[in-house]
Amino acid sequence: MANSEMKAELEAQLATLQARLAGIKKDASHEYPGDSAEQAQERENDEVVDAIGNETAHSIRAINTALERIESGSYGICGSCGEQISAARLKAIPEAIHCVDCSDQAGRPV
Ligand SMILES: [Zn+2]
Repeated sequence: MANSEMKAELEAQLATLQARLAGIKKDASHEYPGDSAEQAQERENDEVVDAIGNETAHSIRAINTALERIESGSYGICGSCGEQISAARLKAIPEAIHCVDCSDQAGRPV
């Protein structure tokens, strides 16, 4: 896939994630109505929302990093060993900044 196509793909993902994060923040900012049992349930829900929000924020950072790398011309090159990241890997994980070997070694997902 050409970098310009990859960039469009990443920007589309970024827009989706940012919209999702905005929705999560809106949900999380509500007041706690009702009695204490309901409040406890609300707080539990908010913890789940936090986890999803953190994951979404993490993905947004990863995609922004990938977009910066497209701009600087280093996209598709492993940030650790400097080898080309395989096309199959980039197709599966467009925001990947490490080759499959380095990702495994460092225990990182991308
Ligand atoms: Zn590598």
